[in-house]
Amino acid sequence: MQPTLLNDSELDPHSLISKNRFGTFFGVPQTVLDKVWENLTSPDGNSVVYISMEIGADPDVFHPIKDTLVDLEKTDSMDATLKKFIKKVLQGPEKIPCYGGGLGVLAGDTLKSFADCRIPVVAVSLLYRHGYFSQIVDSKVGQISQTVNWNPEQTPGLYLLKDPDLPGEPLQIQIPFFNEYDQETMATAQVWMKMEVNHSLDFFIPEFLLDFSLDINPPPIREAAGQLYNSQSSFIKAMQRRMLGPGIIPVLQAIGITSHTLHLNEQHGVVVALQLIAEELHENLRITDIAQASEEEILAAAATVSQRLVYTIHTPVKAGHDRFDKSVYAGMSHKSCRHLLELLARDDDSPHTYNFTNFAMRVNRTANSVSRLHRDVTHKQFPHSADKITAITNGVHHLTWISDARAEAFDAFSQLKNWREDPGVFVNVQDLKDNSRFRTYLRRAWEEDSRILYDYVNAMLLNHRKQMTSTWIDPPNFFSTMIDTDTQLDPSVFTIGFARRFSTYKRADLIFDNMDTLCSIIVENNWPVNFLFSGKAHPADEPGKSVIKLILDYQEELHNKSNGLANLIFIPNYDMNLAKILVAGVHIWLNNPKRPLEASGTSGMKAALNGVPNLSIMDGWWVEGYHEGQTGWKFGHEGPVAEANLSESPDELLYAEDSDSFYKTLPLVLKEFYEKDTNSAFLDKAIMNLCLNIPIFNTHRMAAEYLQKYDIKLSGSVKEQMSGFAKLYDSNL
Ligand SMILES: *Cc1c(COP(=O)(O)O)cnc(C)c1O
Repeated sequence: MQPTLLNDSELDPHSLISKNRFGTFFGVPQTVLDKVWENLTSPDGNSVVYISMEIGADPDVFHPIKDTLVDLEKTDSMDATLKKFIKKVLQGPEKIPCYGGGLGVLAGDTLKSFADCRIPVVAVSLLYRHGYFSQIVDSKVGQISQTVNWNPEQTPGLYLLKDPDLPGEPLQIQIPFFNEYDQETMATAQVWMKMEVNHSLDFFIPEFLLDFSLDINPPPIREAAGQLYNSQSSFIKAMQRRMLGPGIIPVLQAIGITSHTLHLNEQHGVVVALQLIAEELHENLRITDIAQASEEEILAAAATVSQRLVYTIHTPVKAGHDRFDKSVYAGMSHKSCRHLLELLARDDDSPHTYNFTNFAMRVNRTANSVSRLHRDVTHKQFPHSADKITAITNGVHHLTWISDARAEAFDAFSQLKNWREDPGVFVNVQDLKDNSRFRTYLRRAWEEDSRILYDYVNAMLLNHRKQMTSTWIDPPNFFSTMIDTDTQLDPSVFTIGFARRFSTYKRADLIFDNMDTLCSIIVENNWPVNFLFSGKAHPADEPGKSVIKLILDYQEELHNKSNGLANLIFIPNYDMNLAKILVAGVHIWLNNPKRPLEASGTSGMKAALNGVPNLSIMDGWWVEGYHEGQTGWKFGHEGPVAEANLSESPDELLYAEDSDSFYKTLPLVLKEFYEKDTNSAFLDKAIMNLCLNIPIFNTHRMAAEYLQKYDIKLSGSVKEQMSGFAKLYDSNL
């Protein structure tokens, strides 16, 4: 798919096998493995640990090793080891279901950009044997969550690390848990490494995934280890966080990683700081009993440790911030840890809880929000830390999210040469605006992506129709019940895409708030519209699940009231692959959260990178990506942040005001699509998205802004390249 720098047809796949004390790996040459390891283990600590509860990096959306093998037609071998590796890459499972949504996908995209840019970074996260969950949707029931069973052993790019000192045994780490009497139980984890290999196969980011699902662990540990964001009880939830934070230093030590800087992608892993503070108290302040340390001593140690920590806060929404009842924490953590938390995780509004966002806010040298608007909201939420909270607007990994068809179009123009290495070259699209060959290529690529999307959707609808007779599931789409085998949805019909987690503040049902108004726009003008919706609600989020059910319930009414001109289709089991097909194949990407609760919103950026315009509330990134008349449309409440209401309660979600605004905007959009030459108006918007938005909303630029916060030195050429990306944008204006 993606031409790589290694397009030397003489490349011998044997040269992609490499070894060290922890195992044998496939994907990069030995020199690359050695170099990456040397960077991460050198005594100067000149590298970064990126800590995240979830990492979304499914191989079915980005897999440079596979692409290289296929391009070079090196798909078989006589050598037994190589044969095994090749088979795994070409035929292995293509999902690593250890992510729940935007936070994980951002982590994956960030790490891929670090790999592309050859920045010495290592990631730590958890491996969940049961992933997040798999979503079945039944029109009568709504969302049904099913356990995912996947097989890390068979998944390409994942390796169980070996213990160098115990031949044949996996590397293991141990972390202590305590009961309320401070009796200790050790929990053991084995360590998987996912190699996030870059597209030229000359650098990679190791991700160490701690796997606590081992039989030797006590049942509650195994239970907490199984499923991402398992929230059966606050105890299980706290245990899960307690595996990540305290697991970090032991795994780094076991492998010999020396990184000085730690980057917290959200506060989930902040407990790592407790261990560092405890060490500081012991070793430098000579305090033997931490439970007796004074406030002054703790603050001094925390200040020292803070110098190592960088913190990204991702949301103003409550559910994104961990607070645990002190009694819950007493059942797993030692009293010396609780002594530190009393001070550092204090929550004046809720004295019986430890607040981990407050903790992370206190122990860092710099914190960042994920868009400019979100920075302003965060300043309001944390006035005491406002000085150190800056904005670094999120991005997405352009090599992952630009579709194959669009990539092929870009490749045909010398003005865009090198776009894979440098997303900044898209400013040159300005010169191609009136180039009719460019416009034709772009239009055809868009049509191709719409065809791919509709092939997927039509096949799904047909499949559901067949299932109706063979299973007890009522298919999620009213449309499946109507069609006979040759009725299909038509890709040339104006298509609105909406896909993300179903949380109430994201208001997936907003545009159906007044069905009569919506349908009258469609019917009076004879403008057909397909609405393609997708997304999961957290299994414990009953209000979120009921929004899914509402969407299903609206289908028949929409169809009937629009005289069949409008169809609302729900595509179950949203994941990265589906996201990739959707953002490229629709005509517009819709986002309608309650402002200012969407801190960033990255799916809209994925659309913009393919030239698909957004139709969105002025929230998150869109405040920065919207250019009037050029990149898309805005609608809805735009009140000042200072007066913003952060409430998520149903009657404060502004449905009436924002849906009304939507019904005023929609006709402008549809008119432009149906009444102007599509080759002109919508294509103009596509082109302006490429030229104004790709250079900014990509993770190379974002990584460059992060680097300015890290305490690391880069080599000459890398430094130069990164300062080039940093110049593309200043999030902090
Ligand atoms: C990009 C992505 C998200 C995040 O979308 P938002 O617009 O930020 O809500 C969630 N899930 C998947 C599978 C994605 O690819």
